[in-house]
Amino acid sequence: MPTEDEISGVPTQHRRPRPSPTQIGNRKLTAQSLMLGYGFDPELSEGSLKPPIFLTSTFVFENAAAGKRFFEGVTGKRPGGAEGLIYSRFNGPNQEILEDRLALWEDADDALAFSSGMSAIATLLMTFVRPGDCVVHSGPLYAATETLIAKILGQFGVHWVDFPSGATREEIDAAIAKGREKGRVSLIYLESPANPTNMLVDVEAVSAARDAAFGADEKPPIAIDNTFLGPLWAKPLAQGADLSVYSLTKYVGGHSDLVAGGIVGEKGLINQIRSFRNTIGTICDPNTAWMLLRSLETLELRMTRAGENAAKVCDFLRSHPKVEKIGYLGFLEEGSRQADIYKRHCTGAGSTFSLYLKGGEAEAFRFLDALQIANLAVSLGGTETLASAPAAMTHLSVPDERKKQLDITPNLVRISIGVEDADDLIADFANALTAV
Ligand SMILES: *Cc1c(COP(=O)(O)O)cnc(C)c1O
Repeated sequence: MPTEDEISGVPTQHRRPRPSPTQIGNRKLTAQSLMLGYGFDPELSEGSLKPPIFLTSTFVFENAAAGKRFFEGVTGKRPGGAEGLIYSRFNGPNQEILEDRLALWEDADDALAFSSGMSAIATLLMTFVRPGDCVVHSGPLYAATETLIAKILGQFGVHWVDFPSGATREEIDAAIAKGREKGRVSLIYLESPANPTNMLVDVEAVSAARDAAFGADEKPPIAIDNTFLGPLWAKPLAQGADLSVYSLTKYVGGHSDLVAGGIVGEKGLINQIRSFRNTIGTICDPNTAWMLLRSLETLELRMTRAGENAAKVCDFLRSHPKVEKIGYLGFLEEGSRQADIYKRHCTGAGSTFSLYLKGGEAEAFRFLDALQIANLAVSLGGTETLASAPAAMTHLSVPDERKKQLDITPNLVRISIGVEDADDLIADFANALTAV
């Protein structure tokens, strides 16, 4: 009996990568092991152990029927998405391998790669939000995300309501109720931990509040920016989020040499976002996808080392006489609500924290200028340690009142610890503190 593929003249089988094993006997393989080869079939690329970079704008169809079939998939006429590659605004081999591997870290159905964290967030918002709708979100958010929601979507008649990151179930319920008065709540958007307050959002409470407030046919998806702790130390899909969003520029890229974004999560929602991404072309390029594949091989090693380093550095800084306080997730007060959320949601404290020096801007600047290993730069999650002064840099244009609310004071130094030797870093910080 000829198969359906043979009848339609589409020999799709031999053009698809062979499925990679994800289990050996009863043992389910971990994401770390799968980062080295999952989703790539060397037989399709001349036996090359590593995927080549596919620099092409378009893909040749085996025959006309195959072209039709692929378009039926990409346009949604046939369920299940595109069966083959069509055009590089939609996808490519490097991006597909990257997406398959990204999804593994959070046990997600599927994933999408983007040209930046912000293009991922913009594509997500524009997929779900219509004029007159209301976005309910935790606050503060990454500054560009706040601008996008309040200023840009605001121009298109979209409303928003926020609740503080550390909000209780009651406060979340109240924000949702207020949001519903403003319009159809079509998206709940979270960021945890918030920058630079380090406050964690109770995703389980948000999920319960959403489920209690909305009927099955009107339930808005819950998306969360998981850039700071994901994918190693926080997996919010397990706490009830539907979509987990990343600036891959940070820990996942991890070498401060690329800009990219990602979304992982529930298949139906991912398909909707993919469809919009196909239209506007916010996918990442093949070269960046290839670099991210290289980065993913060492993700666990890098994040683990950076996390261990941060714990040692914070232990040193905590008792230093020139330090006022430290905002680090490893130091949450036993029995506090934040510590309870941390226990339920996180497996590590990360490597980005807030250091408050005794004094003001002059002290913070003297400290920053005296650093020799740590680099004076914004961003985070790279192999190298970075330090910056949010009040004078990333948050310079935030109104004073709001800065006060968020504890963005002139003596605040934001630090992202890298993979250097921990004792060398402590020597660098100790030396810089003598200059304060
Ligand atoms: C950097 C960052 C973004 C934006 O990502 P880009 O890759 O710079 O576009 C979004 N959210 C958080 C939490 C970030 O740190």
